[in-house]
This record gives sequence, structure tokens and C-alpha cells, in this order.
Amino acid sequence: MTERPRLAVVGAGPAGLAAALAAAARGVQVTLVDAADQAGGQFYRQPAAALGARRPQALHHQWRTWERLRDGLDRHRTAGRITQLTDHHVWCVARDSASGAFAVHALLGPAQEDGVTVRADAVLLATGAYERVLPFPGWTLPGVVTAGGAQAMLKGGLVLPGRRVVVAGTGPLLLPVAAGLAAAGAWVAALVESAGPGALLHRAPALAAQPGKLAEGAGYAARLLRHGVRTLARHTVVAAHGTDRLEAVTVAALDRDGRPRPGSARRIPCDTLAVGHGMLPHTDLAETLGCTLSGTAVRVDAEQRTDVPGVWAAGEATGVGGAALALAEGHIAGRSAAARLRGTAPDPGGWGAARTRTRLRAFATALDAVYAPPAGWADRVPDETVVCRCEEVTAGEVRGAVDSLGAGDLRTVKLLTRAGMGWCQGRMCAPAVAGLAGCPLTAGRRPFARPVPLGVLAALPETE
Ligand SMILES: Cc1cc2nc3c(=O)[nH]c(=O)nc-3n(C[C@H](O)[C@H](O)[C@H](O)COP(=O)(O)OP(=O)(O)OC[C@H]3O[C@@H](n4cnc5c(N)ncnc54)[C@H](O)[C@@H]3O)c2cc1C
Repeated sequence: MTERPRLAVVGAGPAGLAAALAAAARGVQVTLVDAADQAGGQFYRQPAAALGARRPQALHHQWRTWERLRDGLDRHRTAGRITQLTDHHVWCVARDSASGAFAVHALLGPAQEDGVTVRADAVLLATGAYERVLPFPGWTLPGVVTAGGAQAMLKGGLVLPGRRVVVAGTGPLLLPVAAGLAAAGAWVAALVESAGPGALLHRAPALAAQPGKLAEGAGYAARLLRHGVRTLARHTVVAAHGTDRLEAVTVAALDRDGRPRPGSARRIPCDTLAVGHGMLPHTDLAETLGCTLSGTAVRVDAEQRTDVPGVWAAGEATGVGGAALALAEGHIAGRSAAARLRGTAPDPGGWGAARTRTRLRAFATALDAVYAPPAGWADRVPDETVVCRCEEVTAGEVRGAVDSLGAGDLRTVKLLTRAGMGWCQGRMCAPAVAGLAGCPLTAGRRPFARPVPLGVLAALPETE
């Protein structure tokens, strides 16, 4: 056992699980670390064990794949080839440049007050993605949640975020969220999608190359129809209303240029707005290690290797593309890591997963072009709207930093306004601040992926 090379996999979603299974099956000792209390990630998020869900599969797609992953994980754990660490929040991965060995530093449990370090010969980052949150008047009212947050409440907590829900924004995630909420008993008053059918038709050849994905989309659409959910394509939420909590939203139709059509605004009463504008890769740990990004995602080669020796990345950290793509990438990364660690020849081109990856990446690129936030969204955010909720910085203050003080990048806007300086360190507001400031969304260059108690830092050996 001690002779098996050690691989630390951060993230137990589809990518991390596929990677861990592939590496463990090929002679590698794997430690699978995840912040959640169960494996599954976002797509296969499981209900808390204490809830005793009798039919968790009712909230899921591709349950058989999940069963295969779960059973594989159980087998490797029993055989001692995988150590699974749940409730471990990784705040930093450090590489010793002399030995090339890695230290994966994590905080334990919900309180996150104690630290633990996992040692490994190589690291595979499968940290997934997070939702892009864009501001509009009323977005901070209780009752406004992200689309993924609403789904997490349902899948993980078996609760509805409200009774009368509007699902809005843009992106393929809105379909399963609206369908899931409706099937679970919420009244979904409308699904408001800012993209139009024309954009989908425009990409028809690329999309049609993935009939399985199209069938999945059609399945959601059929469920929405069955539950009588109204779909408003080429519409957007322009404001959320309420005094102590959400009472209604105003939606408007969008013209060809993505601007609200005058006279098209209408009010929809609701107690919950589940809103999402797509996803962005989670790259904090990769950035700290010095991995190069390509746009907002970690750059990888054909074997899913980053440009830092001994670091692989897979799944949505390397580009948002769905669970099937994450599985394929994870499998390739796990196989490659095993081959490299054991000194055998990797052959990613010969693996079936490589062809799947190519197809699914093309599909994801086509979808990306269809689902983008409506043009000019930033111009429509009124000056008094709060953008950074940790530090209560308004859109007007961000504009002031750019127009009056000459800020031209996220970091300068932050220094001048405090936007992004609070608890979340810009993880939520950075895309919005960048949009308002008209500057690119650049890497945060945060040394830690999450807040760390001083005691944990002080307890580290001086060399680290
Ligand atoms: C909120 C949300 C909801 C989604 N719902 C759907 C859906 O309904 N249908 C669909 O097709 N796709 C959905 N997606 C897209 C979905 O995430 C992917 O298709 C798929 O789950 C990606 O797999 P992954 O393994 O790359 O990442 P994920 O499944 O996101 O897994 C990443 C894992 O890494 C862990 N992690 C991240 N950072 C750390 C850290 N610092 N320390 C420890 N652990 C860490 C997380 O806890 C998580 O378990 C959703 C995405 C999000 C963000």
C-alpha cells in the first residue's frame, strides 16, 4: 500500500469521482477531499442522510451513472485504495518546489475552526463552478435566491424555497431548476429566459450533434408543459419588489439588441425569485498554485494537465460544460495522473473518453454563445442598487471610481470602493463589478480559497 503513489483529488463531484475511480483502479492511492458532507457535487447533490429520503432519485437525472460512481467509490474505500474526506474545506494547496510534493490544507466541519493537511505526490483539482450573480433593483430582498441555490435547497434539504416561484436569468440550468421545483409542488409562475429561440436555431448544427443532450432538454420542456409553467423567452427580470421580503417581480420583453422593449413591462406576483446568469469556473486553488488560466477557466492539455508539474484539473474548473463532460474529463485526468505517477505511457487519444470530451466541448461552446447575459445589463443597473452586499457598495460608487477616479481594473475599483473586500472576497460580486466598471473579470489572486482562522495559520510548521 505504501508503495502506491499518492494523489489528492479536491472535489467529489462528477469530475472528481470519475478521476478518483480511474486513478485508484490503476495503482494509485487516492485521497478524495470535499467540502460537502457527501460525495456527488452539484449535479448529484444528495439529501442529508438524517432526512431519510426514500426516493432521492426522484430529484435526479442519470441516476444509474450516480449509482455506478457511488458503488465504485464504496468498493475502493473498502479496499483501502481511496480515503474519502467529507466536510473538508480546502483553503490552500501548496507545492514544495524542491521535492515537488504537495500539501493540501483543509478546514474541518461546519465550524471550520480546525485544520488538517493531506500530503500527496500529485493533485487533481475538480472544484466545479459557481453561479454568476448580476444585480438589479431588489435583488437583495429575502426571497431572491440563485437558481442553483433553489435547487440545492430541494436536492440537499428536500425543501422548497417558496410556494410561488419565478425562475429567471439565462442558461440551461434554469430548465431543470424550474422543472424540479414544479414537480416538487411549487407553483412556478414563469420561466423567464433572456435568450431567444432564434439563438438556438442559429447554432442548430452544433447542438444537433448531441441528440442525448437535446432529448434531456426536451424532457425538461415537456415537464414544464405538463405543470403548466409559462415560458417567457427573450424576457428579463428588471426589478424585484417587496418591503420586508419579495412580493413580485417586473419582467420585460427584450428587443433584438437585448434591451427591454418600452411598454412591455408586466408584474408577476411571487414569493421567490430563483435567478441565474450562467456559471463561472472555481479556480482559486489553481491560481494559488500558479496554474495559467485561459479566460476564466484553468488551462489544461489533452491529458487534463495544468502547466504546473503534478497538477491536473478536470470538470467545470476547466470550463463549464455539464456533468457528462465533467465525467469524461475526470476519467481522462485520473488515467493520466495514474500513468504519469507510475511511470507508464499515457495515451489519452486512444481513450473513448477523449472523443466524448471533444463532442461535449463543442456542444458547450455552442451553448455558451446562446446563453449570455442580455447586452447592456450593466447600463440598466440604477446608481442606488447595491452591487457588493458584503460591503454595501452601490453601482453609483463603482461608476464613480471609474468615471471620476480613473479606475480601470477590478483591483483598483476594490481599493477605491471596498467592493469585493468583505467576507466573500469578491467571489459573488466580482463579475457584476467588472461588468459595471467595463473591465475584464480577472483572477482574484487570493492566497486562500476561503477565510482561515489565525490559529490554523499559526499552527502550521514554519516551513509552510
Ligand atoms: C449550483 C449549481 C447547480 C447545478 N445544477 C445542475 C443541474 O441541475 N443539472 C445540470 O446538468 N448541471 C447542473 N450544474 C452544473 C454541474 O455543476 C455540472 O454539470 C457538474 O456537477 C460539474 O461537475 P464537477 O465535478 O466539475 O463540479 P461539481 O459537481 O460542482 O463538484 C465540485 C465539488 O468540489 C467541491 N469543492 C469546491 N471547492 C472546494 C474546496 N475549496 N474544498 C473542498 N471542496 C471543494 C464542492 O463541494 C463540490 O462537491 C449545476 C452547477 C451549479 C454551480
